[in-house]
Amino acid sequence: MTGTTDERPTPRRSTRFRLTVLGCTAVPLCFAGWLGWQALAGGGSPAATGTSASPPPAAPPPATTGPGTAPASTGAGPSPSSTASGGARPLTGRTVLLDPGHNSNNVNHTAEINRLVDIGNARKECDTTGTETDAGYTEAAYTLDVSHRARAILEARGAKVVFTHDGDREYGPCIDERAKIGNEAHADAAVSVHGDGAPASVSGFHVIMPAKVTAGAADTSAIVDPSHRLGVTLRDGFKAATGEPYADYIGEQGLDTRSDLGGLNLSKVPKVFIECGNMRNSGDAQRMTDPQWRQLAAQGIADALTAYLTTPAG
Ligand SMILES: [Zn+2]
Repeated sequence: MTGTTDERPTPRRSTRFRLTVLGCTAVPLCFAGWLGWQALAGGGSPAATGTSASPPPAAPPPATTGPGTAPASTGAGPSPSSTASGGARPLTGRTVLLDPGHNSNNVNHTAEINRLVDIGNARKECDTTGTETDAGYTEAAYTLDVSHRARAILEARGAKVVFTHDGDREYGPCIDERAKIGNEAHADAAVSVHGDGAPASVSGFHVIMPAKVTAGAADTSAIVDPSHRLGVTLRDGFKAATGEPYADYIGEQGLDTRSDLGGLNLSKVPKVFIECGNMRNSGDAQRMTDPQWRQLAAQGIADALTAYLTTPAG
């Protein structure tokens, strides 16, 4: 919802060129790592069904072909990229923070969520209502559903998954608390899940990474580089799983860097946002409303986190 959601941009373009410089030296390496994970993982994941103890399938998995070659959303089951071994549990001992953007109850607590909180270099609303499709499917419902699906996959791979909220709070949490929860969990990686509310004529997904911010309580110096690697890996994994095109209205090749998001400014752990699509665009809205597509979205997020956490930083 333009102007009201935390992740809506303020005009800034100065950081765009940083992307090509810092870049996961990156993209090929990161994606190679992700492919490596896929190859390594072998068998079938129980994740798509949300169970955690399915045996590996007898048949070999279909090949993963890479970005831009997303599996068809047939609804017949897990995507090819979901074929990670349930037995490997490569994320044992790792902690992932998933931050479902907004909260369905925020709409009933406008006074509380409009309270300003300190994000280091500015003061911003505690939280926002988020956007929704023209048909009324809310961003808060979307983000929680995709986070649930991603959690199931990640837990099946052995990760400890921490949520900032699980639809169980009256409102929020505030954006500063969302960051704090990840910090206190000592998360190895954090992803904030969102859908955008841009004009109806534009579409696509993008990943938002933290700029270097050192102001007040914000100091992202230590997380800029790992968050960039996480962002590129997430961009590639999400594209591979969903086939969703890069946003055609913001960022560069599906990547953006910002200094105005409290959830990033206050994070001490590698963290990125993903705007999975533009809920105001009819095509994106149709996909985001489809549970089968949301499973692919969750698969992409989980696969990217797995790749990030199992590939040595280079
Ligand atoms: Zn949002």
